Amino acid sequence: MANENRLHVDVHVTPMRPIVGSAGPGPGDEPMWSPMSSTLISGERDAVLVDTLVTYDHVDTLVKWVEGFGKRVVGILITHGHSDHWIGLGRLLEHFPDARGLATAGTVARARFEASDETQRRYWQGIFPGEVPEDPVLPELLEGGSFTLEGHTLEVTDIGQGDTEHSAIVHVPSIGAVVAGDVVYNQVHMMMAFTDAAARGAWIASLDAIAALAPRTVVSGHKRVGAPDSPDTIEQSRRYIRDFSRIASEQGTVEGLVGAMMQLHGDRDNPRTLWHSARMVLAQKG
Ligand SMILES: [Zn+2]
Repeated sequence: MANENRLHVDVHVTPMRPIVGSAGPGPGDEPMWSPMSSTLISGERDAVLVDTLVTYDHVDTLVKWVEGFGKRVVGILITHGHSDHWIGLGRLLEHFPDARGLATAGTVARARFEASDETQRRYWQGIFPGEVPEDPVLPELLEGGSFTLEGHTLEVTDIGQGDTEHSAIVHVPSIGAVVAGDVVYNQVHMMMAFTDAAARGAWIASLDAIAALAPRTVVSGHKRVGAPDSPDTIEQSRRYIRDFSRIASEQGTVEGLVGAMMQLHGDRDNPRTLWHSARMVLAQKG
């Protein structure tokens, strides 16, 4: 009987680490990459991985972790097209030849853009020199919006705005789990740099849509090492976005916006992301 087995969710997190870049004058404005997760959804024999992590070192550590479960990896699902979530695909596929990298149309399009646009390529090569492939393997289109793992459906849904548009989540109804990519953050500063007020409103609507699924497990693409994969992270993310939008409309300076946000949400990893978000969002207001 296909559905007598239960799926399991296990999460590997790679800690915050330095990237190449220059430090700003403000506290915590140092070039760091946020901690990130990759999630293994496993049945009795087979498993699916969600998101790839970034650097060769990340991927090699991830491969060892996955191999410890002794499952056959049959798919690698990608939540969105920001390169940090899929650029490790080629190296993963070398180790898991039964798998294919799969994503929604919006994610495939964004990934193709990041792999081909010179500014994007320079950005990723610049912050991780020699640590990411120059000619990365792209995810393929997942037909039909779902993947079947040992009789269980994994729904891969383009939910709309997250830290980029066309963000997808992986919903596993049989166990009440959502792997949320960068729609939900967990104890890490949220990447607001590519949003305006309307996009942040749409992002909150995406969080409402995840809450409506009433998940018992929610895995964030960026989470602090050891942070629980709790559905409370949905409301925490909504509150962060609302606070950021309100304070951004009140504050005229980057320091003012960062300072006010740190008072409310200071206990999160990687304040560099907050500094970057504040600079970009206030520049649009300009
Ligand atoms: Zn990300």
